[in-house]
This record gives sequence, structure tokens and C-alpha cells, in this order.
Amino acid sequence: MSERPGPIVFGRPLMPRQQDLEQLLGPVFGSAQLTNGGALHDRLEAALRQDLGGHVSLVSSGTMALMLALRLGNLARGGEVITPPLSFAASVQAIDWCGFRPVFADVEPAFGTLCPLAVETAITPRSVAILAVHFQGIACDVAALEDIARRHGLWLVFDAAQAPDIELSGRNICLSGDASALSLHATKLLSTAEGGAVVLREAGLAPKLAQLRNFGLDGGQMTGPGINAKMSDLHAAFGLAVLPRVAQERAARRQLRRWYDAGFAGMPGASVLPPRPGSSESHLYYTLVMPSEQRDATIASLQADDILPRAPFPLLCGPGTMFEGAVVHSSRARAVAQTLAGHYLSLPLYGAMGRAGVDRVVKAVRRVLG
Ligand SMILES: *Cc1c(COP(=O)(O)O)cnc(C)c1O
Repeated sequence: MSERPGPIVFGRPLMPRQQDLEQLLGPVFGSAQLTNGGALHDRLEAALRQDLGGHVSLVSSGTMALMLALRLGNLARGGEVITPPLSFAASVQAIDWCGFRPVFADVEPAFGTLCPLAVETAITPRSVAILAVHFQGIACDVAALEDIARRHGLWLVFDAAQAPDIELSGRNICLSGDASALSLHATKLLSTAEGGAVVLREAGLAPKLAQLRNFGLDGGQMTGPGINAKMSDLHAAFGLAVLPRVAQERAARRQLRRWYDAGFAGMPGASVLPPRPGSSESHLYYTLVMPSEQRDATIASLQADDILPRAPFPLLCGPGTMFEGAVVHSSRARAVAQTLAGHYLSLPLYGAMGRAGVDRVVKAVRRVLG
């Protein structure tokens, strides 16, 4: 009797070695400093600054990072924020929670990220900001969006939660726009279980950010807006313990991508979502693009083999959502996001699945697509 192999889940959190975490936590027990900028918090912040080359401020979640990055712009409340309909719920919820109005602009057919032409079409006198998303680890057209933001005086925030270590033109993608938001959630490669970071190219606005994440306090005086968005030392300890494992996990995932590429070579009816030229490949997503009937059949085939692909991302403004409404299209293209939402299929991508896992996924996909 052959043994049935275990399930392949979509993603698995990268775990630290238990002894590394315990060692880091030792001094916390001694000092009993749990939060408010403890030693481990500061160490993790410094390590990420070193890695990314910008000014990093740790916060309690990626969603909070988005909210603070928006509030950092000092924008008129009630103003419109232009954003893509293809993303995780957090990006539009952050806009709404800050008191802005989301305006959905369509995405580019080849990359699934916010379309600069559609953004220009969506701009009104009420526009205050653009919140673009490096969706599924694909870099936005950063240069075009920066140009639009500059010409129209709009604040530009990038949601980099799904693109934690993408390089664009030789530098980390988080050094784009006015601010970028990172997630350190368990599902996002480097994790603090729950957590996030705001990344700025320069430190100029860092004091304002420090105030925003700490109740609006500046030297004990409540002189501006703020909330509690601090990351605790317990979460930072987890991040510091995971950090040494990230490089190896990235390398493993790059190898998985090559095995997937080889397995799907010459497969009719589907293509791999490519990185934007000039940018690196995603370590979070390996996404196939195929017609929706085939996609649904492929999902069923994977599930029959105990393989769980990423549940598709529905449109953020689709029927039944709280933001149900129109998408502004570029004059050339029509309803791109809606089409792509039905075409994307993201496959499992984590080191522990190994070659055998990739082979199993490829076989189940090829059963449908040939
Ligand atoms: C995960 C994610 C977030 C939110 O991150 P949290 O840390 O879970 O709050 C925001 N935007 C996108 C696109 C995401 O995938």
C-alpha cells in the first residue's frame, strides 16, 4: 500500500530556531522592558535599515504601516485616494480607516499593477494621494507613478507587503514614492508573527512618523495626530530570530521557481506572470495566468491532490463588497482588473516543499492543461 503524501499548503511561515528565540528573549526577562522602543525593537529596526538602505520604522502591522504612511502626507480628510482594485483587503481598508475615499483605477494587462494611464484619468480636484500596490510581488511602474504624483502634487504611497525584497533598478523597491508599507505578518517571508514597517527614502519625516505611531506624543506633549502602532520587543525578538534564515529561504524559493519553470516549459494555455523588466522575481508568489475555466479546473485538480493554491483575490470593489462600485479604466484598455482576477493562479512557494512538492504541483496542473 503506498502512503498518501501530506498536504501541500499555500505557504508556511518561516520559523526561527527555538533556541535562537529563547536566547534573544533571555534579556527581556531580566529587564522586563516589553515595548516602547526596547532594545530588540531597536536592533531589528537597525538591521532592516541596513538591509533596505532607507529609514525603517517598525509598527504593529502592515495595515497600520499603510495607515501611517497615508497620514504622514498631511492630506485633506475626505480626499480621494487612487488605488487598484486588485489587492488584499488591507490596502483599501487602510484608505477608508484614515477617512479618505478610495477611487479605483484599473491595472496594466501585462503586470496586474496600477495603470498610470488609468490613474491620470481618475485624477479629480479632490484627489490627494495614490496608493499603489506591488501586487503578487510584481513591481509597479514606479517611475511613471512618481512622475504623475509630482506633476499633480499627489502623495504617493506604495504597498510593498507582497514585495518584501524586490529589487528595482538595483535598489530595494521600498525606496520608492513618498513612503512604502511593509508587512511582517507570518505569511510574508520575514515575519514578526504580526508586524509591519514604514520605509522612507530619507529620514526627514521620521520624527513625524515616530509621533504618529506613539499617540501623537512628542517629548510627552500631544502636539499632533497619533495612535498606538508600536511593535513590542516580543515580536521584534521573533523577527531577529527569523532574520538569519531569510537568505537561505529566498535561495530555496528561487530554486523552486526554476523547477516550476522547467516543469511548465512548453505547457499550452498558461503563462507565468513575469517580473517587470528591471526588477527581480518574487519570493512570495509564483503565479500562472490562464483562462478562467481552466483556472477553476486546475484548482479542482490541485485540491484533489491535497494541494492548496492561493485563493484568488476577488476585486476589492466587486459585487457584495463594502466598496462595490466602478473602476476607472484607461481610455485604451477596458476592465483589465476584472479579467485578470479570473486568470491568476498562485502556486505554493516555500522552501520546505522541496523538489518533490514542485513535481506534485506540476503534475496536477498538467493534468488539466496538458
Ligand atoms: C498582507 C498584506 C497587507 C497587510 O499586512 P498585515 O501585516 O497583515 O496587516 C497589506 N497589503 C497587502 C497587499 C497584503 O498582502
